[in-house]
Amino acid sequence: MLILLTNDDGIHSAGLRILAEQVSTLGRVVVVAPDRERSAVGHALTLHAPLRAHEHQPDWWAVDGTPTDCVSLGIHGLLKATPDMVISGINRGANMGDDLTYSGTVAAAMEATLMGVPAFAMSLDSSDFTAEAFQWAARVARTMAVTVCEHGLPADTFLNVNVPAGRPNGIRLTRQGKRIYEGAVVQKSDPRGNDYYWIGAGELSFQDLDGTDFNAVEAGDVSVTPLHLDLTNYAALERLRQWQMSADFLADGDVEADE
Ligand code: MN
Repeated sequence: MLILLTNDDGIHSAGLRILAEQVSTLGRVVVVAPDRERSAVGHALTLHAPLRAHEHQPDWWAVDGTPTDCVSLGIHGLLKATPDMVISGINRGANMGDDLTYSGTVAAAMEATLMGVPAFAMSLDSSDFTAEAFQWAARVARTMAVTVCEHGLPADTFLNVNVPAGRPNGIRLTRQGKRIYEGAVVQKSDPRGNDYYWIGAGELSFQDLDGTDFNAVEAGDVSVTPLHLDLTNYAALERLRQWQMSADFLADGDVEADE
């Protein structure tokens, strides 16, 4: 088995190193990861600058791009082969609820899915990110890799796995929860008396909803959420049909052609 690993915390992250150790028993592991922290870059792709890859040690590539770049470059440029699986993580901090689209960790798994490669994202919900703190999550990752290898994944589907701090109680299938963003922007003054703003420094909480990722991890369980790329809200589609949207912008004739 050929497994491609990436993350958004950068190639020197303890979570990536321990993940590599755990899954290396399953086959050849190739790491293609950002050369620095790229958390919260979402699904960003570098289109207007060259990318450089540096092989630190055999099969460990540092790339000056985003997690999505790493998956794309890894598969099409460095491996020159399609891996059997892509695992992204283990992230420093949970990726649950409405946070998912910010996450570079989750986006890397999404990118692999776009390429038809089975993938999952791994995140640790903790405030301790020492090597020891990642041990349980790395074991979970190994089990997930074996399970995904055995069953495959439904088309266009990838998994978002979140692990609580410490020894998990068990494992649960979940749905995406709802984040509550309070005081999302903090305003302060810098030493020169000018205002500055900091996003994401406020208190974060979540709605306590049954069956969600937040709920499972809060209860000490590993959360496994199947995700897909189709963001269409099918229920809304039915409702919006009742709008009977007008195309009366066509009625005034043609627009002036550009010279
Ligand atoms: Mn991160």
